[in-house]
Amino acid sequence: MLKRPSDFIMDKLEKIFVAGHLGLVGSALIRRFEAGGFGNLVKRDRSQLDLADEQAVRNFFAQEKPAVVVFAAAKVGGIKANTDFPVEFLLDNLRIQNNIIHAAHDSGVRKLLFLGSSCIYPKHAPQPIPETALLSGPLEPTNEAYAIAKIAGIKLCQAYAREYGANFVSAMPTNLYGPNDNFDLLSSHVLAALLRKAHEAKTRKARELVVWGSGKPRREFLHVDDLASACLFLLEKYDSAEIINVGCGEDISIRELAELICDVVGFDGKLAWDATKPDGMPRKLLDVTKLRDLGWRATIPLREGIARTYDWFRANCAQ
Ligand code: GDP
Repeated sequence: MLKRPSDFIMDKLEKIFVAGHLGLVGSALIRRFEAGGFGNLVKRDRSQLDLADEQAVRNFFAQEKPAVVVFAAAKVGGIKANTDFPVEFLLDNLRIQNNIIHAAHDSGVRKLLFLGSSCIYPKHAPQPIPETALLSGPLEPTNEAYAIAKIAGIKLCQAYAREYGANFVSAMPTNLYGPNDNFDLLSSHVLAALLRKAHEAKTRKARELVVWGSGKPRREFLHVDDLASACLFLLEKYDSAEIINVGCGEDISIRELAELICDVVGFDGKLAWDATKPDGMPRKLLDVTKLRDLGWRATIPLREGIARTYDWFRANCAQ
């Protein structure tokens, strides 16, 4: 049951564990919490805590006893990495999420926000995709392993809610981008990959930039700072075990995205299409009615978000 928005405001001193705080999503959450005055954030990098190690995770939760957990730790990657490494995408994600969700319950966590992905939905789901499309048809093969792991995570959270009354909620973000994204061309998602390719093509004064697939698939892109603000909103206002989509409500084709990125970066060469690479899902646009009805909307327009990400890339990654 969808609960009505309440006036509940999180205590600024509550202990919040952001699992995966160095990644694209986790680092945005830390920025958002810090900006909001939350002063009791718990972070662990991989050298301090291996989230795939069940005993280590149990010990960590028993010792730290966080009140709130945001689950932003996952093995993630773009269409190529997902296709090439299904074992790692399935096994690592299952291990990490089983360990954290189980230990969170045992140690008495008040609320856990599990972050899934829009790729949990069937390949031929209705567009925009409503939350009810979950498990209504076969998945897109290029990210099936990751999707199955995330679906298992949702189901585990829902099982804890049903069997033990745990306040474990699951949000499904659309394709994300922003600072601390992965810009490696073999494992990144499309937006980061094209930003880097456009920057390098401009720097090398190349005549063309290679884009994978046909350019026809459509994707919805959400700046990760918008996602972080949605997460805080859900922590304060959403207490249902039913999944909830997080997106901006608009999509564009990969061709349009490539053109927009070239424009922002200032690369005026040609686009070339590599048809040997897969297109993946034909379209992924989330139906965000449920989140909008609760009172949240994305605020960062795509062009501005890309420009901000390009500034970050130049300051942190570009040679
Ligand atoms: P997806 O949303 O799970 O399919 O993951 P991606 O972000 O990796 O890919 C989205 C779409 O962008 C797919 O149709 C890709 O073929 C296309 N694409 C075009 N050029 C690139 C590229 O350089 N890297 C990636 N990862 N995808 C690309």
